[in-house]
Amino acid sequence: MKIFKSIEEFISSELKVNIFIPTMGNLHEGHLSLIDVAKKDYGNVCVSIYINENQFTDKKDFDNYPITLKQDIEKLESKHVDYLLIPSKQDINKYSKAFDFKLEPKKLTTDLCGKYRSGHFLAVMDIIHRFFQIIKPEKIILGEKDFQQIICIKELVKICDYNISVISAPVVRNKEGLALSSRNSHLSKDGIIVANSIFKSLILSKDLYDNNVPLDRIIENIYDFFDKTPLKLEYFTIRNLKSLQHGNDSDLIAIIACYLEGVRLIDNMIIKSRS
Ligand code: AMP
Repeated sequence: MKIFKSIEEFISSELKVNIFIPTMGNLHEGHLSLIDVAKKDYGNVCVSIYINENQFTDKKDFDNYPITLKQDIEKLESKHVDYLLIPSKQDINKYSKAFDFKLEPKKLTTDLCGKYRSGHFLAVMDIIHRFFQIIKPEKIILGEKDFQQIICIKELVKICDYNISVISAPVVRNKEGLALSSRNSHLSKDGIIVANSIFKSLILSKDLYDNNVPLDRIIENIYDFFDKTPLKLEYFTIRNLKSLQHGNDSDLIAIIACYLEGVRLIDNMIIKSRS
């Protein structure tokens, strides 16, 4: 695996990158599953590790973000990743242009998680826009755990007319169904057990849907379910799978964000899909 810390060196290598996988490091099986998806495709794989300060709405969250670079490199080596880019903020700013904030698709970026994390998705679109200019990949692979992020990046591709395919990979969970996340390491042992209720609530919502319970009743049920747990629900809703807008006539996804022990946890589950 060739490691680049300098963007100048990366650009002057004139690589033709096939698949790009952006990460913030502290890699776990969820991240590594994206590499497995990439390896089923053709061509080389470029992973980035960059903790984008601008997308953190809570400064403490940024300051406490776990950094495990040595282990990350070992994991990426073991997966035979071709290129790893670990850029500095100055370098990124020097070699790329910012996303034009006037083009922000606010209907999408200020809804759901964006409603509670002001500026988050705009910052995500900005950093991916910058990476696209530097890496120029054919494809990007993103995890469905951050579902709204995928829809934002698809929108970025449309807005900027990038010839880049956005590929999504399924959520990787632990045995009890908790979605793997770097943030799980901030939970206590008991907290991890409590957090399994998130997956249970998603399964419940799918069961209710399969039993023809109307969407507003499902949402009420899930709020009641959370009232009986120590988890503090930020929101639970059911939306159109493609647009993330309201609607109950097409493919649907249940989306959730909640807090436990001061840690913000997100998850989702497709509850109706024709494909
Ligand atoms: P992050 O390092 O949190 O920015 O995540 C980098 C990429 O890994 C994103 O595309 C995430 O959606 C993806 N990812 C993180 N956790 C998981 C998971 N449990 N399952 C699948 N993909 C994940």
